[in-house]
Amino acid sequence: MPTVLFAAPSLWPEYQEALPAALAEAGIAARLVTEAAPEEVDYIVYAPSSPLQDFTPYRRTKAVLNLWAGVERITGNPTLTQPLTRMVDPGLTEGMVEWVTGHTLRHHLGMDRHILNPGHVWDPTCPPLARERPVTILGMGALGSACAEALRALNFPVTGWSRTAKPGCLHGPDGLREALSTAQTLITLLPKTPETENLLNARTLALLPRGAVILNPGRGPLIDDGALLAALDAGQIGHATLDVFRVEPLPQDHPFWSHPNVTVTPHIAADTRAITASKVIAENIRRGEAGEPFLHLVDRARGY
Ligand code: NAP
Repeated sequence: MPTVLFAAPSLWPEYQEALPAALAEAGIAARLVTEAAPEEVDYIVYAPSSPLQDFTPYRRTKAVLNLWAGVERITGNPTLTQPLTRMVDPGLTEGMVEWVTGHTLRHHLGMDRHILNPGHVWDPTCPPLARERPVTILGMGALGSACAEALRALNFPVTGWSRTAKPGCLHGPDGLREALSTAQTLITLLPKTPETENLLNARTLALLPRGAVILNPGRGPLIDDGALLAALDAGQIGHATLDVFRVEPLPQDHPFWSHPNVTVTPHIAADTRAITASKVIAENIRRGEAGEPFLHLVDRARGY
């Protein structure tokens, strides 16, 4: 019977019923514990905030199963040599699709003009249709492709950009220029890696159509904060809705808080949901026990 160490103590209350239920549903008899001698541990359910930072003694551990989608705080840990999986959770994806769709529609429909209308101005200008509002998504992985599907279902023309070539998707530096050139709404769903840091900078922000809206639910360091503030002040960027930041919580004196064309949401775009995420963890333990390849393995050299 495998021993599964749940090494994310602050999340245990959410998982203490969901994870045993998912393991039972997957037909796995496991010893699920919150403390164990390292030499007994077969699987570690993990979060970057865990006190467990030295994986060296976990020599029999077959996999470290991360509960978060983002892994940039783990991939650099030199003691972690065991296979690492990240979270692709249908519940998390659903939440991201809702956040992205809601904020895209807010800007597309110009909702603020009517919600915040202290002067009671009667302005009967209708917004264009979604089909006339091109959207670009940087990062067409689990989350980006689900958001693209939802936005396309509303008739937004969606251009996707990713690292590698895939059907219907741009890639590479030329692809990025093309993807940015049409983006009235730009959505960043990239992981934080050395290649993606400051991808949106003074040069790339200038490639967007004037007045473009940016939604960043990816990671704060994807955007050069100073360049974004300058582009907002110059009117090159019309609005930025930001869910993630270089420092979280966003410091009280950060100019994003007070900028009239910035909306701050406190890293709530998409949370891992215990019931659906537990099923993903259980499936990976089942695979490990059956000698099958793990789902959602992280390529540490690539950084995601
Ligand atoms: P994923 O499935 O790994 O997809 C990542 C995408 O980014 C892939 O399409 C990948 O290209 C692309 N990419 C990576 N490096 C690139 C580069 N240098 N140039 C161009 N494209 C690049 O990840 P995911 O599950 O969709 O999650 C994406 C990110 O969302 C996470 O890393 C995390 O930072 C963020 N997130 C935020 C929240 C929140 O609440 N705000 C919640 C969950 C996740 P390929 O397809 O070619 O590999």
